[in-house]
Amino acid sequence: DPELTGYFATFMQWADEIRRLKVRANADTPRDAAQARKFGAEGIGLCRTEHMFFEEDRIPAMREMIVARTEEQRRKALNKLLPMQRSDFEALFREMKGYPVTIRLLDPPLHEFLPKEDDAIRELAKEMGITFEELKSIVQSLHELNPMLGHRGCRLAVTYPEIAEMQTRAIIEAAINVKNEGIDVVPEIMVPLVGELKELKYIKDIIVKTAEKVMEEKGVKIEYKVGTMIEVPRAALTADEIAKEAEFFSFGTNDLTQMTYGFSRDDIGKFLDDYFEKKIFETDPFARLDEKGVGKLIKMAAELGRSTRPDIKLGICGEHGGDPSSIEFCHNVGLDYVSCSPFRVPIARLAAAQAQVKSKMKAFIDK
Ligand code: PEP
Ligand code: MG
Repeated sequence: DPELTGYFATFMQWADEIRRLKVRANADTPRDAAQARKFGAEGIGLCRTEHMFFEEDRIPAMREMIVARTEEQRRKALNKLLPMQRSDFEALFREMKGYPVTIRLLDPPLHEFLPKEDDAIRELAKEMGITFEELKSIVQSLHELNPMLGHRGCRLAVTYPEIAEMQTRAIIEAAINVKNEGIDVVPEIMVPLVGELKELKYIKDIIVKTAEKVMEEKGVKIEYKVGTMIEVPRAALTADEIAKEAEFFSFGTNDLTQMTYGFSRDDIGKFLDDYFEKKIFETDPFARLDEKGVGKLIKMAAELGRSTRPDIKLGICGEHGGDPSSIEFCHNVGLDYVSCSPFRVPIARLAAAQAQVKSKMKAFIDK
């Protein structure tokens, strides 16, 4: 449980005085959030809500929600998940004490949540009041050939709007509850896997309607933001359109790399490692932003986004957000923040300061 203390802490403060880029952390639990704060994170840039449902006590309701074939069945499962989500978010908001928290709507590769063994199917079927055979055939029908390009992210919320509704309710109720404890949080609700303005608009309408309803029920108003991940190449190409409905963009460079290069993220650690060793590609694009690849898309999308909405907030939450050379690139493109895993926060703070020093020196020499 390391903390930054002594000379190291002083040195990091100097770095903070210099850097322009903010540094946030990717965190899904209060424990990660607390660690991120100790390392100097200035917010959560990505809370992957699907990770919250891997917990033992959540899996059954999550499975029930995924295999539900009627809205009624789905709402029944969602009602079980709502109080868990609300308390998850309250705990995160408390830990972050008013720093910004970006919560991403559910983005699960469905196969990770489907029951596999017959015993698990039998148990869930009993819970749902349907037969084993019925549930087995539902599970088979949900099997996807390419889950990472499948029914996930905003596609799930477009098909089943009640999921986005439940999560928005949980976020807004949690923000109101902590506001009553004296913590003012402005939650940033983030829509994943958007590739088209209409997808974002469709889900934003659900978010806004639900948020308004909750605030009316509670008689309390809070501020919140709605934005999107830019992680599908088409979203980068149409960022000027998408910015009409997005208050912020967060570059999801893991998926953006997969889809730009056509390399599967699931092959990292397999044939891809040997392949990148061959140096046919200048660098491993999953490890470092490439100015002619994903970096170029980021630069273009940032410019397009700003052309529509000059004050759009821009961040990055893919793995590249913790890589020093990619952080330098993000600084040069003018992003507002990088978000990385808690243990990379100190490195990111340092890399952000180095990027600033380097660009000031360059400006000085050029003059
Ligand atoms: C990404 O795609 O870069 C991202 C941050 O989302 P995830 O890794 O959860 O797909
Ligand atoms: Mg992604």
